[in-house]
Amino acid sequence: MPLANRILRGLVVGVVAALLTLGIGHFHPPTLDFMRKVSSAVFDPFGQVFLRLLFFVVIPLVFASLASGVAQLGRLERLGPLAARTFVLFFLNMIIAVGIGLAMMNTLRPGLHMDPQATGQLIAQYGSGDHKAVPARAAQQQVSLSTLVDMFMPRNLVGAVAGHSRDALGDVLPLILFAILFGAAATQLNAERRKLVLDGLDTLAEIMTRIVHFALLLAPFAVPAMIYSVIVKVGLDVLLALSLFVIGCAVALTLHLFGTMSLWIRYLVRARPLEFFGLIRPVLVTAFSTSSSNATLPTALASASEDLKLAPSTSGFVLPLGSTMNMSGTALYEGCVVLFAAQVFGVDLSLGQQAILMLLAVLSAVAVAGIPGGSLPLIAGLLATFGVPPEGIGIIIGVDRVLDMMRTTVNVGSDVVTAAVVDRQMKDSAARAPAG
Ligand code: ASP
Repeated sequence: MPLANRILRGLVVGVVAALLTLGIGHFHPPTLDFMRKVSSAVFDPFGQVFLRLLFFVVIPLVFASLASGVAQLGRLERLGPLAARTFVLFFLNMIIAVGIGLAMMNTLRPGLHMDPQATGQLIAQYGSGDHKAVPARAAQQQVSLSTLVDMFMPRNLVGAVAGHSRDALGDVLPLILFAILFGAAATQLNAERRKLVLDGLDTLAEIMTRIVHFALLLAPFAVPAMIYSVIVKVGLDVLLALSLFVIGCAVALTLHLFGTMSLWIRYLVRARPLEFFGLIRPVLVTAFSTSSSNATLPTALASASEDLKLAPSTSGFVLPLGSTMNMSGTALYEGCVVLFAAQVFGVDLSLGQQAILMLLAVLSAVAVAGIPGGSLPLIAGLLATFGVPPEGIGIIIGVDRVLDMMRTTVNVGSDVVTAAVVDRQMKDSAARAPAG
C-alpha cells in the first residue's frame, strides 16, 4: 500500500480509537484517565521521535538548499531578460498565494474554534513556546530599523541559530540571511571551486532530505499515536478546528490555482483558462498523485512542448527552476499552518508579523525540496520563528498528506502557467524587435 494511504489509514485509526476512548470515558472516567496516562507515557514520546527527526534537519537543510539556490542563480545572470521575468513572476505568484491563504485563515479562524480550556491543555502539553522568538519580540516593541537589524543580524550568528535553550529551535531568520550571503559569495568563486561548493551543498541537502524520508516511514504509526493523544487529552474541539483548517486550505489552494492562475492565463498568456487547464490535465493529475514537484517535472516538460507548444528553451528553463523554487501552493500552506497553529496556541500575530510571515513563507517555500512532505521541516522552523511551539506540527501532520497532494498540484500548475506567461512575453518581444 502506498505510504500516503497508510498514513491516511493511520489517521482514521487514531481518530476512531480516540473517539471510542472518549465514549467509554464518558461512562467510565477511570478508563479515560488511564488512557491519558498511557498517551503521555508511550504515545507522546513516540510522536516526538518522528517530530524530532524533522527538527534535526531544519538548520542544515535551510542552509544548504537556500545557499545552493542562490549560488545557482549567479549562473543565470547572463540569461538576462528571461531570468529576470521568470523571477518576478515566481515572486508574484508566491506572494499572492500566501496573501490568499492568510486572508482565508484570518476570516475562517479555524484555530479559535476551541474553548480556552482545550487551548490551555494543548499549551500545557506542548509547552508555551519560545516567546522570546524574534518577530514576536519585534512586534511588542513595534518594528523599527534597529529591531529589523537585530532580527536578521544578531551579533552572534552561531549563538542565535543554536537557540537560547535546549528546547528552542533557534532563530531561522539570521540563518536565511547567512545562507543567501553564502550563496551570493559562492557565485564569485572560479568555476571549478563554485562547482565544488555547489556539489557539497546539494549533497548536504540530499542527505537531509533522506532523513525526512526516514521520518516519513514512521508517519503511519506516529500519526495515529499523536492524533490519539491530542484528542484524548484535549477533546473533540481539535477535530473541529482541524476540519475547518483543511477546508480553509483547500478552498484557498483552489482559489489560487483556478482563480489567480486563470487571470494570468486570460490576461498574460491570452488563452482560455478552461482550455489551458484541460490541456495540462495529465500534469495536474501526476502532481496530485505523486505529491512531488520533482517527480512531475518530466510530465510537465512534455506537456509544455507537446500540448501547449511552448518554446523548449523557455520551458526547459522555467520548469526545472520552478519545480524547486516556485512553490505557491507550499508558500500558501506554510502561511496557513503558522497562522492556524498560532491561533490554536493562543499566540497573537499582529498585521506587521503577518507581513513578515508572508515574506518568510515565500523564502522558505523556495528552500523546500519538491518531494512529498518536503515543507515539513521548514514549517517547524517557521513555527519556532513566530513563537509557536514547533510540536504544533503534530496536530496537522495527520491531514498533511491530503493537503500535500493539493499544494503540489498548485505548485506544478503555477509552474506551467508561469512558463506559458514567459513564453508569451518572449514571443511578443521577439515580434516587436524587428519593427522597433
Ligand atoms: N510536496 C511538495 C512538492 O513537491 C512540497 C511540499 O510542500 O511538501 O511540491
